[in-house]
Amino acid sequence: MSQHLSQALQRIEASPTTAMTDRASRLREQGRDIISLSVGEPDFDTPPHVIKAAKDALDAGDTRYTPVTGTARLKEAAALHFNRDLGIETNPSQVIVTAGGKQAIFEALAATISAGDEAIVPSPWWVSYLQMVRFCGGTVVPLRTAPANGYRFQPSELEALITPRTNWLLLNSPGNPTGAVYPAEMLRGIGEVLRRHPQVLVMSDDIYAPLRYCDAPHATLAVECPDLAERIITVSGVSKSHAMTGFRIGVATGPEWLISAMGRLQSNSSGNPASISQAAAVAAFEGPQDFLGPWREAFRRRRDIVVKRINGIEGLSTTVPDGAFYCLVDAAPLMDRFGGDDGKLALHLLDHGVATVAASAFGGRDGFRISFTADEAVLAEALDRIEKALK
Ligand code: GLU
Repeated sequence: MSQHLSQALQRIEASPTTAMTDRASRLREQGRDIISLSVGEPDFDTPPHVIKAAKDALDAGDTRYTPVTGTARLKEAAALHFNRDLGIETNPSQVIVTAGGKQAIFEALAATISAGDEAIVPSPWWVSYLQMVRFCGGTVVPLRTAPANGYRFQPSELEALITPRTNWLLLNSPGNPTGAVYPAEMLRGIGEVLRRHPQVLVMSDDIYAPLRYCDAPHATLAVECPDLAERIITVSGVSKSHAMTGFRIGVATGPEWLISAMGRLQSNSSGNPASISQAAAVAAFEGPQDFLGPWREAFRRRRDIVVKRINGIEGLSTTVPDGAFYCLVDAAPLMDRFGGDDGKLALHLLDHGVATVAASAFGGRDGFRISFTADEAVLAEALDRIEKALK
């Protein structure tokens, strides 16, 4: 019956991160012992004050439609978050609340991409950037980065790819799946290029900003290049920072023309994000943030364990991620055994009880991504299994 599928749908595939995670869950249900390091989901408990806010909202009968683009209360709290945590001065009229950061990214692209438009995306990239741009009829132009330069591109490399059809640059710092972080001066260099190309919009996906392991403060394009504000949309949320993946709350801030276009789309598709989740997100943004320090420390310790172990396994290597909770592993010396197909490598690891995601799903190659969202003992066991699988 695939003749019924639209051309747009035929251009995309299911998200490889969620597909692998669903596959691992099915195997577990069948009784298989699988350690799932495939999805980017903090394993910590959602903070108690957030849970309480959700329960209070239910008890108060907060179970109806809210304004489509989010409650006034949450937009204020999100504006506070953008200001306090990212340094972006904004106001509630320039904020939209969405069902996860994913929806904000999709809406911004869908509101602006026409057939034949080009989006420049640094690779390796987060899997859904590619699918979303394709769905909208655009073409992804990869801006290749490599471990040797910390998976960061130079402004001149960006400029070399810009054409009259380029209408997006997608930035993600700290980045998924590499953990690369762009310092302020690099962003200013990127801004200089963008000033020469006024047709290019910028998505700054800052969802991992609170999870950084380097000393420098978080840098973001909207702060470094305020003169470009009419062309920048910054995406954040509570999923990663507050372990609230299931609540599905993302927030974005940008120019009013784009925020209102996204709202137009949202009003005709999902409607408002869940009312209870919005109440919980207010508590997340406005409540105590002190749990984050220990979480960050736990992630840093796990990162160090994973990096050390991976670099000690023959044929595997990785860089040290400066943020987020992913480690992109290079397995190039071993790829002959898998016919050069890292999808087969990921399935081989799954056979040995560890779910990861192939690097090729991220526009990379010859490797896999580990999400270090499990405690140290579980990670140690997973790394033992990986080592054994590749012996
Ligand atoms: N962003 C997370 C990941 O990369 C969650 C799953 C998804 O939406 O891709 O694993």
